[in-house]
Amino acid sequence: MTKRISSGGRPLRIAYGRVFHEGNSYSPLFTEREHFEDFHYFEGKGLSDFLASGKHELVDVLRNAELRGCLETAKKAGDVECVPLLSALAVPGGPISRECFGWIRERLKSAVRAAGKLDGVYLALHGSMRVAELDAAPEGVLIADVKEILGEDAIVAVSYDLHANLSPAIVDTTTILEGYRTNPHRDLRKTGVRAMTQLIQHLRGEFAPVRAWRKLPVILGGGMTIDFLNPMRPLFMHIKRLCRRSDVVSAHIFMVHPFTDAKDLGWAVHVCTDGDQALADKLADELAEMVWNVREVPLPEFQSPADALRDVRKAKIARKLGHIALVDTSDVVGAGATGGNTHILNTLVKEGSDLMVLLPLHDPEAIEELWPNAEGDDVEVTLRGTKGLASQPEVTLSARIDKRVDGDFGRTLVLRHNELRVAITEKSPGPVHPKFWRQLGLSPWKADAIVQKFFFHYRLFYAASLRKNIPVATMGPSSLERIRDRQFDLPTYPKNSVAEWRSFDKVRRAESRA
Ligand SMILES: [Zn+2]
Repeated sequence: MTKRISSGGRPLRIAYGRVFHEGNSYSPLFTEREHFEDFHYFEGKGLSDFLASGKHELVDVLRNAELRGCLETAKKAGDVECVPLLSALAVPGGPISRECFGWIRERLKSAVRAAGKLDGVYLALHGSMRVAELDAAPEGVLIADVKEILGEDAIVAVSYDLHANLSPAIVDTTTILEGYRTNPHRDLRKTGVRAMTQLIQHLRGEFAPVRAWRKLPVILGGGMTIDFLNPMRPLFMHIKRLCRRSDVVSAHIFMVHPFTDAKDLGWAVHVCTDGDQALADKLADELAEMVWNVREVPLPEFQSPADALRDVRKAKIARKLGHIALVDTSDVVGAGATGGNTHILNTLVKEGSDLMVLLPLHDPEAIEELWPNAEGDDVEVTLRGTKGLASQPEVTLSARIDKRVDGDFGRTLVLRHNELRVAITEKSPGPVHPKFWRQLGLSPWKADAIVQKFFFHYRLFYAASLRKNIPVATMGPSSLERIRDRQFDLPTYPKNSVAEWRSFDKVRRAESRA
């Protein structure tokens, strides 16, 4: 096949849409309809109008993502009519409630029914969605819904996040499967381009997707799993080289979102060739073997809050040169946690309030209690963070209200306790960008440390002022302990030491498509 799409061809009608959410099964908060509607939700003409506007496809984060990539490709190809279905996206969080998933399914089905005759469908999906009380991959349910309307032979192209958990229900039901090839993810638009290019070429009879995938008994490994750092760097380079070959269409690693309760959790690889099954199998085996060999590379050591504080103190003399990030690895909002962990706060109030640390905290109950106050008021308050989180310390402190705003994260108050600044928010806080603090009148340049609620992405936005990253471990929805201790029906690394991956692969790929 040619890698680039040609101009013109037989007229095609392709519908496109997105349902995107990463589920954290350990969060006590369900993801509801309003989380999608408040963040990103468009249907039909509303969707195509939005994509035609200059607005960021992903609010604040990325100008263009999968759907603009898809439309751009269709335009370039010529003779392709694109039909907008819907686009629903919410920030990572607890499982989607049954009601909310029912609503998404109904809206998607009604959009597919209204679309009329179609040659194919492209859906940008996550691959690690979770729905309350649903013991199956939600993406598989959506694909099945689409096929129920269009017929079993309908051509469905999908793209997944690199953290997807591949299973027969979301692989074998599709004709084209694409995904991100970067971590942190930077190739969303390109992923849409790749998926749509392959879909159009396939529909025009220019290429026959023949695929192979393998599933590995691994849910954690590969160090930080960053594509440009070892040990993953050589793997991502290998994938790049494969994708440049004229006989290979695509190759991917999928590394799962480990904080889900999916029973069949496990890393996977996927390879697509143009009509060559033996080659697809051979390359998938080789790639699986490479992935298998990096599983035991550990993450950097995480510190306790007290040890981390000691390191911040040591570095204090150089404050004007920037700040330290204390990464609250147990409460990563970017991994679906709530941002309402009080462990680091507890340590700071006890022994670190002389340091200027900026700390965000989800605590809607404290907001409710303190909101009647004005800026400048002195208050006495007990902070409990997100309701429903297990083993959370309660933190009582006297503070001055420095700022009172109703903003992106709902009602927000900045409490000042000595040098410590705590931004308590009504919704889960997203301090991935320094503008979170600037909007509250605080400068990252003046801080000794900032408590981060993201694993990595913030580094891109804080690059100028960020001097050092200290991963801190406490207890919360994104604690690695939860993963390390998890039981599976088949031996899975790191809970079990596993000698080989093929027997796991054989069982998992044969499992029901339900
Ligand atoms: Zn991801």
